Amino acid sequence: MKAVRYPEVGARPEVVEVPVPDPGPGQVLLKVTAAGMCHSDIAVMSRPAPRFPFPLPMTLGHEAVGTVAALGAGVHGMPVGEPVAVYGPWGCGVCRKCAQGKENYCTRADDLGIRPPGLGADGAMAEYMLVDDTRHLVPLHGLDPVQAAPLTDAGLTPYHALKRSMPKLVGGSTAVVIGVGGLGHIAVQLLRATTPARVIALDVADEKLELAAQLGAHDVVRSDDAPDRGGRGGAARRIRRLTGGDGADVVLDFVGAESTAKLAVDCVAVEGDITIVGIVGAPLPVGFGLTPHEVAVAAPYWGTRAELIEVLDLARAGAVRAHVETYGIDETPEVYERLHHGQIRGRAVIVP
Ligand code: NAD
Ligand code: ZN
Ligand code: ZN
Repeated sequence: MKAVRYPEVGARPEVVEVPVPDPGPGQVLLKVTAAGMCHSDIAVMSRPAPRFPFPLPMTLGHEAVGTVAALGAGVHGMPVGEPVAVYGPWGCGVCRKCAQGKENYCTRADDLGIRPPGLGADGAMAEYMLVDDTRHLVPLHGLDPVQAAPLTDAGLTPYHALKRSMPKLVGGSTAVVIGVGGLGHIAVQLLRATTPARVIALDVADEKLELAAQLGAHDVVRSDDAPDRGGRGGAARRIRRLTGGDGADVVLDFVGAESTAKLAVDCVAVEGDITIVGIVGAPLPVGFGLTPHEVAVAAPYWGTRAELIEVLDLARAGAVRAHVETYGIDETPEVYERLHHGQIRGRAVIVP
């Protein structure tokens, strides 16, 4: 079968022939029907050799949808032919966090060598993939596979991120979405579908802002406007103006750069939430006198399986719809280049 592999640190991803894997005891073999392309893959492929966290070569792709093709020994309750989405952040299934349904925060996965597909284990950008347990599968119940693939991460991650802020997203509140790419364009829709908040979307690219407006953002603001003499950027000033001086109750940063972290601090309201989802990893100046009073900061990771089920339900109800560009598997290395250069609108989905 064909697979898109990251062969070694610093190399370009490549499409190669590999054997179709055999499902071992407890495992499920999926025929992949769609695989989303996340900016985190680029972050992974940018990591230097001494700290590279996964064994290589590795098949990329952690947004997976497929049909059940074969079952390993001892697997029951999942019929061959069933169309399913893959819940990606696999945990041990046993620890305290897993017992709460939060496998994304499993405390033992690292020690046990349990890694998500495409982020340590072989992933979805292939004709077939292995899934370690039927509990990682969520039936599609009629959802289109190409639509569903981005929802497993680009939908689930923002959903989880904004859920913690639900008590603040009341009538009259404002949510700021920084970066309306794969995750951000779904975040805008989730905010509109599940809260009464006014949504202000920010990006550095006009075509991304156009998409945000089409998807329901009330206001769109370019995030790279020149700073004023106090050092506060034009975007933060615009947000303060749009909110009558109060600032945003919730700021979701889907970039995570130094400039966007500063923007988040500059535009957040008293008692607001700043949620950093982008993984560039910039220090955030938080503390008395640095941030408005009682601002809470979090850096969440992915989401729970229960939340994935909820996101798929929202999609089935028509409340969210991924904006997708589809490509064949042979085009994948070039599509990664396009993503790296900010040239994908919405999510790129590979159909192997
Ligand atoms: P993407 O490339 O599809 O979208 C990023 C968007 O940000 C683009 O529209 C781009 O134009 C915009 N942007 C870039 N610089 C900007 C700036 N300074 N101000 C405003 N907008 C800017 O990426 P994605 O796949 O949506 O991923 C977004 C981030 O989230 C990445 O860092 C990714 O690694 C991370 N991520 C984190 C998690 C998690 O669990 N924490 C999960 C998935 C992705
Ligand atoms: Zn991702
Ligand atoms: Zn666990």
